[in-house]
Amino acid sequence: MTDPSFVRQRHVTDGRDLTYPPLPEALTVPVYDNHTHLEIADGEQPLDYREQLDRASSVGVRGVVQVGNDVETSRWSAETAATDPRMLAAVALHPNEAPALAARGELDDALAVIDELAGRRRVRAVGETGLDHYRTGEDGRAAQLRSFEAHIEIAKRHGIALQIHDRDAHGAVLETLLRVGAPERTVFHCFSGDAGLAKLATDHGWYLSFAGTVTFKNAEGLREALRVTPRSRLLVETDAPWLAPAPVRGRPNAPYLVPLTLRALAAVKGCDDDALAAAVTANANRAFGWA
Ligand SMILES: [Zn+2]
Repeated sequence: MTDPSFVRQRHVTDGRDLTYPPLPEALTVPVYDNHTHLEIADGEQPLDYREQLDRASSVGVRGVVQVGNDVETSRWSAETAATDPRMLAAVALHPNEAPALAARGELDDALAVIDELAGRRRVRAVGETGLDHYRTGEDGRAAQLRSFEAHIEIAKRHGIALQIHDRDAHGAVLETLLRVGAPERTVFHCFSGDAGLAKLATDHGWYLSFAGTVTFKNAEGLREALRVTPRSRLLVETDAPWLAPAPVRGRPNAPYLVPLTLRALAAVKGCDDDALAAAVTANANRAFGWA
């Protein structure tokens, strides 16, 4: 396989602190980072996936689901996961990629590649797919929906999880899942809904994966959603290199920062860190077949 350490570079600087935050205190009960993008270089001194996984293991983050967003990064995810037991892969065309692919007449070919990758042994989810009404305007929405439906079908046919990206499209995502039938293991990545959506989604048996956003000052609505989410439906993730949790918000994010978010989740749920870590790890095992 090809083994470039990075496939992409994160360009945004806007004056933020480009140094990696220090290692947090290690968790005693290990967890997984259920959504990360280690193929993206970030910071002044980027950490490649091996360094990332080493640092993560040193603080009790046992492994990561490495997520692709297009053909190239999905292939990298599948190939890299096949070489390291600390990594599983998710493969998909991002909802904001789909309209551009469709406009060039390349969507079906790209979906065929995703379908092939989804059949590989270490690929345990189709994602991130879904709907994004924030970045994609009216003219791209038909292609985005067609791509989402195709990804749902691929996940069901391969019997693996679905990782959903839902940005400002809660109603349409819900409508689509109920209309075409959700895969048995469906995960809302970087959950951004309110308590109502959390209740509805978990009543259907879907998982909600919380990222560093839940630690942000202005995220009281998200914390309300967390309070009504049963522990049996809860996952934790970074979405690194984006969305570093408080108190290191804005700096490069990394799987080794999961303990910060896990502890914040436990505080909101009013339970101890170990009990919550054990619950989210059991959920990660059920959703992605880590064990
Ligand atoms: Zn992501």
